[in-house]
Amino acid sequence: MTTGWLLFTDLDGILLDQDSYDYQPVVPALQKLKESNTPIIPVSSKTQAELAVLMQKLNLDGPVIGENGAVISYPGEEPQIAPPGYLLIRDYLVDSRTNPTYDTLGFGDMEIKEVMEITGLPHDMALLAMQRLGSEAFIWQGNDAGLRQFRLEAARAGLRLLQGRRFLQLLGNTDKGRAIRFVTKHLKKRGLPISKTIGLGDSNNDREMLLAVDIPIIVRKQNGSHIRLKQRPDAIISDITGPAGWNQVILDLFAKQEE
Ligand SMILES: [Mg+2]
Repeated sequence: MTTGWLLFTDLDGILLDQDSYDYQPVVPALQKLKESNTPIIPVSSKTQAELAVLMQKLNLDGPVIGENGAVISYPGEEPQIAPPGYLLIRDYLVDSRTNPTYDTLGFGDMEIKEVMEITGLPHDMALLAMQRLGSEAFIWQGNDAGLRQFRLEAARAGLRLLQGRRFLQLLGNTDKGRAIRFVTKHLKKRGLPISKTIGLGDSNNDREMLLAVDIPIIVRKQNGSHIRLKQRPDAIISDITGPAGWNQVILDLFAKQEE
């Protein structure tokens, strides 16, 4: 059986446990998706290097979208990086510090030990998180007014600022939604039969992705809350939180299809 689905999914908190990165709860749904040859494309704030390790763990081999849409990577090909790329974004961040209210600490400013401390990642994974291609992750150490001003200026410079769970991310003029549109178009051109695109997410950074798919699925966060998509009243909201919710929603989709 083939579904004709193309599945895009955020990772942190919905496919992987927010703290332990455990993915056991999603194994039944993953199995069904694999059996039906449904491509599973992670769309994450993680770097391509981190995603490569995860893909191996999950036994997946398709394209990945990293750094919140700034990096698209197809197996065996050079990654596509949204302009202006990491080095110029680093320059922008460092130059911005001539304004003393823009007090930032980026991954590129830190030694591996500091990144391990701040992220809680082990040495090998912290190293992979530092292999950035299209965005810089950083901590804002200034006040809120300064951040609002910084955001405006970054936008004027053609950059976007995203708020993640722990870090801010500065990237080019792209997002998860744009990236999945590129990938969908590209895979269609390569002859992949796609009848429906599905997107799963749980946070504000997933909004553009959810708005760009045929079937948007919102997974509840660990505390039971969930984001709202006013523009898409048809969005499915999981009953269960986190990875168990991801698993349940996918199994429900299969059950509906088999009816
Ligand atoms: Mg998430």
